[in-house]
Amino acid sequence: MKLHTGSLYWETTFERKGFKTREKKSLYDVAIIGGGMSGALCSYVLSQQEYSIVLLEQQEVGAGSTSANTGLLQFSNDIMLHELMEQIGEEKAVEFYRTCKEALQQLQEVATHAPFDVQFHRRDSLYFASTENDVTRLRKEYEALKKHGFPVEFWEREDIEAHFSFSQPAAIITNGDAEVNPLRLCMGAIQYAYEKGMDIFEHTEVLEIKDTKENAVVKTTNGDFMARQVVVTTGYAPTPELTVPQKDLKVTYAIATQPIEDLSFWYERMMIWETKRPYLYMRLTDDQRIVAGGLDQDAEQLPKSKQANREKFAELKVELKKLFPDQDIQFEYEWVALFGESTDELPVVGRHPEEPNVYYLIGLGGNGTVYSMLGARMICDLMSRKENFNQSILKVQR
Ligand SMILES: Cc1cc2nc3c(=O)[nH]c(=O)nc-3n(C[C@H](O)[C@H](O)[C@H](O)COP(=O)(O)OP(=O)(O)OC[C@H]3O[C@@H](n4cnc5c(N)ncnc54)[C@H](O)[C@@H]3O)c2cc1C
Repeated sequence: MKLHTGSLYWETTFERKGFKTREKKSLYDVAIIGGGMSGALCSYVLSQQEYSIVLLEQQEVGAGSTSANTGLLQFSNDIMLHELMEQIGEEKAVEFYRTCKEALQQLQEVATHAPFDVQFHRRDSLYFASTENDVTRLRKEYEALKKHGFPVEFWEREDIEAHFSFSQPAAIITNGDAEVNPLRLCMGAIQYAYEKGMDIFEHTEVLEIKDTKENAVVKTTNGDFMARQVVVTTGYAPTPELTVPQKDLKVTYAIATQPIEDLSFWYERMMIWETKRPYLYMRLTDDQRIVAGGLDQDAEQLPKSKQANREKFAELKVELKKLFPDQDIQFEYEWVALFGESTDELPVVGRHPEEPNVYYLIGLGGNGTVYSMLGARMICDLMSRKENFNQSILKVQR
């Protein structure tokens, strides 16, 4: 399944050297299927537990949705805290948000341990009301976050105007979010686990998983692999042996501009997004570019019409120009990608309902990297039979 097309910016920031194929072991503690961000963060967390691990990837690691990711890491989710409270109750919603916040700290640790710079930087986020109608909702969100101790400020129109070239009715600022180069983070986490002994088999497609109750047999295009436990992290592709609660796919558009010498117009390099759905979102990169995305629409596969894509990128340019009218914004990279969300806007993490040795971590949603991180920790807890509060809301069958 092709997940993206176009010119990917992050691929130009990382030189792939490949991994030496080591001899296959007769039995692994864990087989991880899929070498994207979810598989990478699982590799990182599980390799710290001294498990013997094999990572199986059908193409090259990091080449799926992860290389199209725009790298905004936020504790706020596409579903606002107060809305999640209505959906699953206050206690569970607040705990889930706390776990997302902790995941940011854990991502920072991964960044620190990565053998090369992954361009992780703490940033605040500006979440603005797209219209006057959204101000009440945004204020309600501010109250909910504040009440539960999350670091948040409320900005009126004058505050936004004082700091940016655009004017919006209101915004909340969430403190302590982060930006990262997602491809480098993924490759850094995998390299860390590889150096701790994890085996990596690229160009190895998993065809079937057979749970024999004692072990699992993973059947691939490269022969069988035996493992005590299997973690499926195949992203938006159909999930082996299980249908997860995933909505129809969307197609989404992202760009990176040419480097901009003077970025002083961009207050504190904040990450910016909005209340409208689909939302426009943007951030800056280490080499002074704007990375932005949005304009999602329903689609089963990547669009075939180049003209339709050109129109979407032109639309994205208009949206950016509205916010930064004085800037000469030139796009250098443009990519189109598929994007998956779950039916309740939460990730899917847990054990297969009938096959006890098979686990799933599917980081659906706009906050996918944070979900991949908290999911990797949760899988680690489940494997060592530790209780995890989020288990009931994230489990695969719900
Ligand atoms: C344009 C865009 C922007 C985004 N921006 C953000 C953002 O700013 N912040 C954020 O947190 N998230 C963002 N996301 C979401 C983020 O990209 C995903 O959450 C994340 O990449 C998912 O990682 P993954 O490992 O689950 O999937 P993937 O990266 O797709 O990895 C899955 C891997 O599994 C492999 N695989 C599949 N089937 C098999 C099989 N049968 N056998 C072997 N291997 C298999 C695939 O080849 C692939 O490499 C964005 C997504 C898109 C498309």
